[in-house]
Amino acid sequence: MMVNIAELNTGIGKEVSFAFEASAEAMDAVSEGCTFEAPIVVRGKATNTGVCYRLEGIIACRKSFACDRCLEPCTEEQTVEFSEDFRRSGDGGSEDANVFEGDTVDITGMVRDTLLAAQPLSNICKPDCKGLCPVCGANLNHGDCGCERFVPDPRLAALQQWKKDFE
Ligand SMILES: [Zn+2]
Ligand SMILES: [Zn+2]
Repeated sequence: MMVNIAELNTGIGKEVSFAFEASAEAMDAVSEGCTFEAPIVVRGKATNTGVCYRLEGIIACRKSFACDRCLEPCTEEQTVEFSEDFRRSGDGGSEDANVFEGDTVDITGMVRDTLLAAQPLSNICKPDCKGLCPVCGANLNHGDCGCERFVPDPRLAALQQWKKDFE
């Protein structure tokens, strides 16, 4: 994903738009919790701010995963925004800016990092997913399996046993 910013050299406030499509494999976008289905689409614009080159836009993709609670396969459309400042190497400026050389900015790494950083710690099919029954393994989103899932407090159970023995 190479953005040619040669046009921006003519002045402050100049903009150039860009659009890319790439597979997750080509971008090395590997997440433990999910798979990004091809293609990952990136659209945005680059602006000469006078201090740096700002590249902003959106990353759109569809990811597939197994729900962390009920293990059902799911797909989800995802859109992630980005806005990053780049500087031509040798132009000085802050150390944390992304650096490029010549008139071409490679945003592949930035897009990948932004997409991966936007992933939640757990992927679930819906916010109120009921998960699996710990007794029989049934998917509780499909209805109750009828299992006794109440786990009594062991101290309370001991007390009840003691009372029973006493009677
Ligand atoms: Zn689920
Ligand atoms: Zn059950």
